Amino acid sequence: MTEERVCRICGRKQAIVRKYKLFICRQCLREVARDLGFEKYK
Ligand SMILES: [Zn+2]
Repeated sequence: MTEERVCRICGRKQAIVRKYKLFICRQCLREVARDLGFEKYK
C-alpha cells in the first residue's frame, strides 16, 4: 500500500484533507488555500 495519507506539504500523517484532491493536512491547507484562493478555510 502506498501511503497516500501523508501531507504533500509537510509529509506528516496528520488530519489529511482530501478535498480538492490536494492531500494535505488541515494546517498546511490554510496556507495553500490562500495561494489557491480558497476562502472557505479560515
Ligand atoms: Zn502539512
